[in-house]
Amino acid sequence: MPRLKPSAPREPVKLKVKKGDLVEVISGKDKGKRGEVMKAMPRENKVIVQGANMMVRHTKDRPNRNAGANTANNVIKGGRIEKEAPLFAAKVMVVCPACKRPTRVGYDYKEGDEKLSHRKFRKCKHPDCGKSIDG
Ligand SMILES: [Zn+2]
Repeated sequence: MPRLKPSAPREPVKLKVKKGDLVEVISGKDKGKRGEVMKAMPRENKVIVQGANMMVRHTKDRPNRNAGANTANNVIKGGRIEKEAPLFAAKVMVVCPACKRPTRVGYDYKEGDEKLSHRKFRKCKHPDCGKSIDG
C-alpha cells in the first residue's frame, strides 16, 4: 500500500465532539482534566481542548520585519508561550450536561417532518440518563 504524504488531503472524519462541548480527557498526561472544545479538526481527527495538552514553546528574540524605521520596535521579544496542542478526538469524552459524567455519544432522532439530518441529535449513552447532549 502506498504511503500517504503527510500533506495529502484526507476525508474528514465525523467527529462526535463539537466546538463548545465540555469534554474530559481520558488518556495521556491530562487524564481527568475537563475543558471546553475550542476547535474541532475533523480532517485530522483531533480537537483542541482549553487548558489540556499544553505545550510550552520557547521563542528567541527575532527581528520585527514590520517595524520599519522605528528602532524601538525592531525586535520581537522571545519568551515562553503556552499553547494548547491538538489531542486525538479518541482521547476525549463528551461530558453529559445532564448527568455531568463523561459518556460515549449515541445518536437519536427527534420527531418531526424535517430532514433526517436536521432531526438528528447526540445523546448520553448512560442507560440511566439518555438525555440529549445538544440541549
Ligand atoms: Zn447523561
